[in-house]
Amino acid sequence: MNLPHDTDERLAALRRQAAEWAGELRSHALTWEQTQRSAHTTVTRPPELALLTALSDLSLPERYDKPAVEAYGHRFTTTNALERAVLTEEAAYGDAALLLAAPGALTAGPVVEALGSTDQQDWFYGRLAGRTGWTCLAMTEAGHGSDAAGMRSALTRPERDDRTDACEDHVLTGAKTYIGNAARAHTAVVFARTGDGPLDLRAVLLDLRAPGVTAAPLPTIGLAGALGTLGLDAVEVGADGLLGRHLPPIKRGMWGWLRAFNLLRTSAAAMGVGIARAAHDYVRHHRTTLRAEDRARLDGISRRTAAVRELTYRAVGEIEAHPDRGHLPSVAKVSAARLAERTTREALRFFGHGARLDHPLLDKWARDARGVEYLEGTSDIQRLQIYNTLARSGPAPAPPTGPGE
Ligand SMILES: Cc1cc2nc3c(=O)[nH]c(=O)nc-3n(C[C@H](O)[C@H](O)[C@H](O)COP(=O)(O)OP(=O)(O)OC[C@H]3O[C@@H](n4cnc5c(N)ncnc54)[C@H](O)[C@@H]3O)c2cc1C
Repeated sequence: MNLPHDTDERLAALRRQAAEWAGELRSHALTWEQTQRSAHTTVTRPPELALLTALSDLSLPERYDKPAVEAYGHRFTTTNALERAVLTEEAAYGDAALLLAAPGALTAGPVVEALGSTDQQDWFYGRLAGRTGWTCLAMTEAGHGSDAAGMRSALTRPERDDRTDACEDHVLTGAKTYIGNAARAHTAVVFARTGDGPLDLRAVLLDLRAPGVTAAPLPTIGLAGALGTLGLDAVEVGADGLLGRHLPPIKRGMWGWLRAFNLLRTSAAAMGVGIARAAHDYVRHHRTTLRAEDRARLDGISRRTAAVRELTYRAVGEIEAHPDRGHLPSVAKVSAARLAERTTREALRFFGHGARLDHPLLDKWARDARGVEYLEGTSDIQRLQIYNTLARSGPAPAPPTGPGE
């Protein structure tokens, strides 16, 4: 399938280069999973692979020191949402678990850019410029995943004799779970509450080597090696660490979170599309003889994947033009999560009994695909968001949907 932007030579070059590098991710996928399973309490770093390095370098804005990425005669120093989706899709085609273990600022960066002052951005990106390092974005808590606004982590003012009302030092206490790269990261953006009101949700920049922070890997059935937990026991946060101080109160917390998540949802959708494409191509490659009904099933997968892929790139276009509009990214995310799960399971059925044992990559992708459902909010939560947007603004133009989607 040709997407409209595939006619863009620069983007096509990036996709071609990323697709080539993704082969390297694929060749490490099963070993990486095995390592994570046998050493699930030890912090491990993914191998140094060209695509992970490129993702890391390109996650920093142009002004920070890092090598440019060369792709078939084109030079990239950072990525816009479209280029980011292309890289994510191709990386997930290679291996989604390794993609999620990539260094850089892939998830925390969009929040820092939305909420950080120039000094805060310099501090955050300065820790990544010219070296390999991991960061994380910590929102989810046990019992407060979908209901993120109900989080319990607290940002309180310390009781000190020398404290004046102008002092903005805080103490952070709480526990975060299911956090991407938590155990590898040296720097985090952590969300917490300063009070019970709707404007009391704030984000802070944190050096994870600070006293009171504990981090541990979290073993999972799919996307092994991606997640971890953070313990925050009275961690001191200076005024400099409080994101959004330079913004009006209404834009200090939730606004930055929603803006960043609109972008991250398009990445999650691109990831689902990448996994589905991988499963589809695996069947085409390994089932050389197909009965007519099998061919029709495979063609159906191909059409559905093409439709969700097109929807995903429409959502990316929407987010580039209107970063605050989350309706289409949510539609794309729901469709891509369902596509990835359905396609990987259907792909296994092409190989009959024992498929999960005989085809470990397909088995892995079916487990990994489940994770896409939870990334950046479950489908139920996306549907609520879609409903709320439509209820506020009236019916939007119907997005394209594929057969059966
Ligand atoms: C691979 C992966 C990476 C992740 N990375 C990060 C990260 O970097 N940072 C971070 O902060 N978090 C991260 N998460 C956590 C993720 O955001 C949460 O898993 C997600 O928000 C769901 O929360 P939960 O797991 O607590 O599920 P729950 O909120 O407990 O949901 C359980 C079920 O109940 C349904 N449900 C819940 N509330 C409602 C409702 N109001 N209406 C209808 N149905 C509802 C859900 O749809 C779901 O099916 C990651 C998760 C995964 C799997």
